[in-house]
Amino acid sequence: MTRISRREFAAGVAAAAALTGFAPVVLGQARARARVVVVGGGFGGATTAKYLRMLDRNLQVTLIEPSQTFYTCPFSNLVLGGLRPLQSIAHNYNAMRTKHGVNVVHSTATRVDPAKKTVTLANGQTLQYDKLVLSPGVDFKWGAIAGYDGKAAQLLPHAWKAGPQTTLLRRQLEAMKDGGTFIIACPADPFRCPPGPYERVSMIAHYFKTKKPKSKILILDAKDNFSKQGLFMGGWKALYDGMIEWVPLSKDGKVVKVDPKTKQLECELGAKHKGDVVNIVPPQKAGAIAMAAGVNQGDWCPINPATFESTKQKDIHVIGDASIAAPMPKSGFSASSQGKVVAAAIVAMLQGKEPSAPSFANTCYSVVGPDYGISVANVYVVKDGKMAVAPGGGVSPAQADAAFRKAEARYAESWYKANAAEVWG
Ligand SMILES: Cc1cc2nc3c(=O)[nH]c(=O)nc-3n(C[C@H](O)[C@H](O)[C@H](O)COP(=O)(O)OP(=O)(O)OC[C@H]3O[C@@H](n4cnc5c(N)ncnc54)[C@H](O)[C@@H]3O)c2cc1C
Repeated sequence: MTRISRREFAAGVAAAAALTGFAPVVLGQARARARVVVVGGGFGGATTAKYLRMLDRNLQVTLIEPSQTFYTCPFSNLVLGGLRPLQSIAHNYNAMRTKHGVNVVHSTATRVDPAKKTVTLANGQTLQYDKLVLSPGVDFKWGAIAGYDGKAAQLLPHAWKAGPQTTLLRRQLEAMKDGGTFIIACPADPFRCPPGPYERVSMIAHYFKTKKPKSKILILDAKDNFSKQGLFMGGWKALYDGMIEWVPLSKDGKVVKVDPKTKQLECELGAKHKGDVVNIVPPQKAGAIAMAAGVNQGDWCPINPATFESTKQKDIHVIGDASIAAPMPKSGFSASSQGKVVAAAIVAMLQGKEPSAPSFANTCYSVVGPDYGISVANVYVVKDGKMAVAPGGGVSPAQADAAFRKAEARYAESWYKANAAEVWG
């Protein structure tokens, strides 16, 4: 695939997603003052709330989100690498209120009653809904790795939800001596952001290369292959040769036990490793409110891919990381794309109409070095009732010159700016 066609494809992906969000409905025709409650003000939930109001100004849309400031996981790895300050990935809900007329409530949803169609909040409020959208992201399976819980994460950060954990890990890296070892433990699939751990390794390698060149990175992995593996490994060879060691599942890479005080990790077949800075990315599951609403089946939530309505509870839609939408990856772009489709589907359903056949998109850049970017882009459609990859798309070419990799690093910055504006602007 040529450079031009990849760029055009990525641009087309975004356009297709936006059009899909708008195409099926006529503005302003929904039932008067129907109430939609959206839980979670991250990539999926904030996009849904905004697009619901853009599609139908009559809708009463309430967005529940505990935090006043949302720190994006996208580009949090660049904060760890010292390429950006934390403040550059912070977003607020001002535009949601003033520009889009969304009622933003800073609280936590604690209970859902699907029969009465109510959501109870930690602040004591109970909200009635006609349609409920859950986009709570992920929770961690504390204890799945023996010794790793919320308390241990204060010593061995996960930094898999951005904010204070990002700052904690960055400070530990800054305090580490040159010649130290950074260890990252990666989970088995499925988990939030499949390329995320490997972008993190790249950014920390960049920091070490420029500030602590004698240091090493050890990746202990609970799987035998990972997203964009060939491209990452090519980038590591080109930029950080000899610094990074990857231990896959088949070579005893799966961490099963940690000692937060000694920073010692134990793997399934008995290997032991000690790091100076240790980052555990724990196994994950849908956010707790999904379990409370009874929309989960095990760790994640089954949905009808045409509308993302739960297959377990009527009038509750589950999107983003919490949903089972494979082969779509658990990414911010996926969540936002799903949010647009769901907004359109809900407006149509509230009008008693059949939602249009959707298409979804995912475009994801990973920054391997300041001037070295790689990407993946795909369109998804519903085929025979299941989510499927549409023809076209794919990853960056394996062979590309420095100018191409540099251009992709610049596109990553544009991607971030455009998407943050799309979700919170
Ligand atoms: C290191 C890293 C790098 C990443 N890089 C990228 C990238 O480059 N590109 C990309 O597309 N994706 C990336 N991702 C993935 C992306 O962050 C997630 O896929 C995305 O955030 C999922 O959106 P979501 O709406 O499902 O969840 P979130 O964006 O996490 O939003 C969930 C929100 O719900 C709120 N919430 C949870 N429970 C409740 C409740 N009971 N009541 C009220 N609110 C609640 C939370 O406070 C949170 O704000 C990255 C992830 C990581 C960890």
